[in-house]
Amino acid sequence: MTSPSLWHLANPQLKDLVAYEPGKPIEDVARELGLDPSEIIKLASNENPLGPSPAALEAMRDMLSRAHFYPDGGGYHLRNAIAGKFGLARENVILGNGSNEIIEFIGHGFLRPGDEVIAAEHAFVVYTLMATLFGARTIEVPDPGFVHDLDAMAAAVTPRTREVFIANPNNPTGTLVSQEEIDRFMGRVPDHVIVIFDEAYHEFLDNPPDTLKFVREGRNVIVLRTFSKIQGLANLRIGYGLGPVGLIEVLQKTRQPFNANGIAQAGALAGLHDLGHQDRTREITKEGRAYLEKEFAALGLGFVPSHANFVLVKVGDGDAVFNALMRRGIIVRAMRSYKLPEWIRVSVGTMEQNRRFVQELRTLVG
Ligand SMILES: *Cc1c(COP(=O)(O)O)cnc(C)c1O
Repeated sequence: MTSPSLWHLANPQLKDLVAYEPGKPIEDVARELGLDPSEIIKLASNENPLGPSPAALEAMRDMLSRAHFYPDGGGYHLRNAIAGKFGLARENVILGNGSNEIIEFIGHGFLRPGDEVIAAEHAFVVYTLMATLFGARTIEVPDPGFVHDLDAMAAAVTPRTREVFIANPNNPTGTLVSQEEIDRFMGRVPDHVIVIFDEAYHEFLDNPPDTLKFVREGRNVIVLRTFSKIQGLANLRIGYGLGPVGLIEVLQKTRQPFNANGIAQAGALAGLHDLGHQDRTREITKEGRAYLEKEFAALGLGFVPSHANFVLVKVGDGDAVFNALMRRGIIVRAMRSYKLPEWIRVSVGTMEQNRRFVQELRTLVG
């Protein structure tokens, strides 16, 4: 515990900063409830139930023997490969210790106390945490039906606005905004605003909107992607941002020299080329998501149709259902911190995991 007097010395905005509440790790639940860890399933953090690609595992094993060397802080090979995949240059790419770290870089680069950051009311919570860290104010724009209202978000821009976050698909809602809505928004947003398209679930989409065209046009846009979700490398902490060269140059100055470790870079590089593993992940996600949504409908539960690898479902008392499921060895996510106390969010698992989850849920809400 920090002694109370130290708060007089600390940056004042930190007092209001509420720590991010992550999905509960399997080991914690096993220890706290006296359960066998091998019988617990975690559907709480939108992880890949197939694990990492075998090619990524092999590349990481090879790199382990080089653990005594500092990594390539410039991320030469991985940034080249990412750039090549999208027809961009290495200078358009920045690596992060997870794409979340890049959200912090953008704050370091552009936010001052009193600035404004715009996000949707039920957007990913890290945006407002990072805004608070830099003393900026988050303007939460209502999202009817849990869909970002880009017209309202454009209308909320003021001279103090520095960042607008568009999570597409959004977490925890799984909703998507269309190309047309994005284009209209980009037609309205002024140049003193950095627009961040957080596309952590991009690879799960059939017809993803094109936001890289704004990067190519040199707009003040950063597209965030990650290896944590479809690539199954969440433990490694590796993600990337794509932006115009000048914007990436600013962000590069804000990072620590070795923010992306070499084992993560090796795994990510191999995983990037393993399209088969991504295809398999997309397939089981679609099958599992359709199954979950069908079962929720059969149980008479409201849910938000999802474009990602999780579903937000209305269960009544979210905390109670979360705790009851946990006692039965199934970890999901309660949504109170998103001001959705009646809801839980469940990640799509293997079909065996999905069935076990539905079976237990039925006994709680049926
Ligand atoms: C999971 C997620 C991320 C990715 O976080 P990493 O730091 O790359 O693990 C980013 N944005 C959203 C909306 C997410 O759900």
